[in-house]
Amino acid sequence: MPVTDTSYPQESVWILGDQLSTRHPGLIPGRRVVLIESLARLNQRRYHRRKLVLIVSAMRHFAAELRAAGYEVDIRSAADFLQGLRDHVAQFGVRHLVCMAAAEYNTRQFQQNLAAELGIAVTILPNTLFLVERYPPSRSPAFMEPFYRAMRRQTGLLIEPDGEPTGGVWNLDRENRRRYDGRPVPSPLRFPADEITRQVIADLAHRCPDAIGSADTFDLPVTRAQALAALGDFIAHRLADFGPFEDAMSADHDILFHSQLSPVLNIGLLDPLETASAAVNAYHRGLAPLSSVEGFVRQIIGWREYIYYRYWELMPALLAANAWQAERPLPTWYWTGETRMRCMSCVIRRVLRNGYCHHIERLMILCNFALLAGIQPRAVNDWFLESYVDAYEWVVTPNVIGMGLHADGGRTATKPYLASAAYIDKMSDYCRGCFYDRKARVGPRACPFNTLYWHFLIVHETTLRANPRLGPAVLGLQRITPTERQEIVRQAQELLQRLDTL
Ligand SMILES: Cc1cc2nc3c(=O)[nH]c(=O)nc-3n(C[C@H](O)[C@H](O)[C@H](O)COP(=O)(O)OP(=O)(O)OC[C@H]3O[C@@H](n4cnc5c(N)ncnc54)[C@H](O)[C@@H]3O)c2cc1C
Ligand code: SF4
Repeated sequence: MPVTDTSYPQESVWILGDQLSTRHPGLIPGRRVVLIESLARLNQRRYHRRKLVLIVSAMRHFAAELRAAGYEVDIRSAADFLQGLRDHVAQFGVRHLVCMAAAEYNTRQFQQNLAAELGIAVTILPNTLFLVERYPPSRSPAFMEPFYRAMRRQTGLLIEPDGEPTGGVWNLDRENRRRYDGRPVPSPLRFPADEITRQVIADLAHRCPDAIGSADTFDLPVTRAQALAALGDFIAHRLADFGPFEDAMSADHDILFHSQLSPVLNIGLLDPLETASAAVNAYHRGLAPLSSVEGFVRQIIGWREYIYYRYWELMPALLAANAWQAERPLPTWYWTGETRMRCMSCVIRRVLRNGYCHHIERLMILCNFALLAGIQPRAVNDWFLESYVDAYEWVVTPNVIGMGLHADGGRTATKPYLASAAYIDKMSDYCRGCFYDRKARVGPRACPFNTLYWHFLIVHETTLRANPRLGPAVLGLQRITPTERQEIVRQAQELLQRLDTL
């Protein structure tokens, strides 16, 4: 779509760093583009340096591509968004600013006040980066499964001409719970830093001095072409094993058969529908079994969209939700990985190094421990927001406060995700070689997950009994003698006093 002149000299479209899509609805030939590298936004938290480099480098590459296509692009560094927009409006004589509704609550509020702040006309277009904004549900779905089925029907993905799901079932989760068996894991395609990215790394070293982690080995996709190549690489080499090993965890493998596409999906370089469709095409070409393809499609058009939908339904109250009245501070080793719990240590070090670990480690290791130990939801949420390359409030907060900690009273997930070492040992190789004894509930080497898990069931027995999906877990309490109950409670209370030393 080559553009040769500015047909709308008084109009600009402001594109946010997580909206880098050439299908942005405000992007029309002849309309000027403005992108702002806001120092305030980049330093709003101590973000992971890989994430900051990803966003700024992708913005600069996007600007270069738009210029090559003929657009007039103003990409500028500013103290904050407002200052950047004021300077842009003054410099170009802009009378009408167009933007796409932000994915995050505060930025959307900011957009709604922009006309008054800038004293010009502002148009906010619907956000087209999420399918749920394209196909809004007719009524609020009770939970993820009905939402997902409606989304399958709307998109037609894995739906037969008679309207039934391909393979006759909607959900093949039961086939997707294997422990990793040591088979070779193909390395994901990597994208070494080019000249633009190296400049970004150097710039951010000064502009974001407090960021955590390192970007020295930065290798994430930063352009649309690279994002498509990463998608193609996943489909060709890892999708087939994605399903069976979706829940598996390994000390030796950071990614296993996951896609690692969330960083590019979340900044608009990939579209969710094209991503899920690519997997479905692979199924039709015989490249991957239905269990893997359905599992992947469910993550993209099911979970991802459902989470976004819940975020907008529950904000801003969600940020303050604390249904279990959990008030303990985050243990200090969440920032170092220095704990004798091997699972926690491996996963936290992985996150601090790469800004990434996969879903089950986020849910069943990191959040599970925080839930069992009664850590403040807001503190856990903050840790997730700062530590990951793919972290944005719309996706972190419902996943952490809603799904992981069940602090929203069950609005996001039907049950709290609780597990002892038995689950972690079943799905990973972490327990072998751990200082703690995965089988013991009490005693000097008892795994803290065990002690805290049984303590949680004891303390919250009445509430948990009321949840039909947790019945079997609570029933397990009947096999514990009163003496052992007392011992669990005593040891748990002692552990909870000294979480930093575990
Ligand atoms: C406590 C917790 C925190 C999380 N924080 C984030 C986050 O900051 N950013 C983020 O993008 N995802 C987050 N997720 C969801 C999920 O863990 C990641 O999207 C996924 O691990 C990213 O790795 P991947 O691309 O290799 O995923 P894959 O396993 O390959 O899955 C494919 C895609 O499905 C989507 N997806 C799957 N599950 C979810 C979900 N629950 N919510 C949203 N998208 C989903 C993602 O886009 C992902 O890229 C979180 C989940 C939990 C339980
Ligand atoms: S024994 Fe407990 S702390 Fe150690 S790796 Fe297993 S679950 Fe984690």
